[in-house]
Amino acid sequence: MSEASKYKRVILKLSGESFCRERESGISMTEVAQISQQIKDIVETGVELAIVCGGGNILRGKQFSAVSAAIHPSTAHYMGMLATVINALALQDALENEGVPTRVQSAIRMEGVAEPFIRRRCIRHLEKGRVVILAAGTGSPFVTTDTAAALRARELGADVLLKATKVDGVYSEDPEKNLHAVRYTDISFRDVLKQNLQVMDAQAIHHCMEHEIPIHVFNFGVPGNILRAIKGKKIGTVVHA
Ligand code: UDP
Repeated sequence: MSEASKYKRVILKLSGESFCRERESGISMTEVAQISQQIKDIVETGVELAIVCGGGNILRGKQFSAVSAAIHPSTAHYMGMLATVINALALQDALENEGVPTRVQSAIRMEGVAEPFIRRRCIRHLEKGRVVILAAGTGSPFVTTDTAAALRARELGADVLLKATKVDGVYSEDPEKNLHAVRYTDISFRDVLKQNLQVMDAQAIHHCMEHEIPIHVFNFGVPGNILRAIKGKKIGTVVHA
């Protein structure tokens, strides 16, 4: 076992963009394999890990329904949730190729491909050292997988929500638009809301704030960063109560 994890149980939110190449869509198994190697390293610390998959690399309900009146917004959101299942299955095989035992649990029942999400069963898998990949978000339309991650963090009693993204953390302004934007090493939930900073969607922030679940935002594109976050190293931004 490598150097210990700072946390006992962790929720890792992987957005859809982690499943494809930069500025592309769909799934690249090369990208998924790279992230799986990083995940394997953190599993070796002994941490209990549940991963919430996004689906934005395939479809986001809000965007999809905005361009066509032919699709009901609810339908588009269900399509988005199914996209997260596609990602979850890709991640499962990539992790198992690395020798990491996994289970996929889906918030929308689909017996042929995944177990249903059952809290107590999920916890049992975690206790046995299996990585649980949580698919289909909350199972309800009009929210995002950020909210799903916050809810699951609460339900599963996670110590932290890790948000792996393609930016280095939370900035005072969009760093692509303003070169003088500064990155916070840590910031309170209240300040995130007051300054309307784009960390996670507002529902997810409110949920984590209410239940005092810290959110650690960092760039997964830097090899070893997920492991650094698990060990509590000072990378990215920690949003706290
Ligand atoms: N979604 C939903 N309910 C949920 C989670 C997700 O309806 O509980 C839909 C929503 O349309 C969302 C899409 O699934 O846009 C994909 O998830 P998300 O946008 O959160 O993926 P990410 O941005 O993390 O890639």
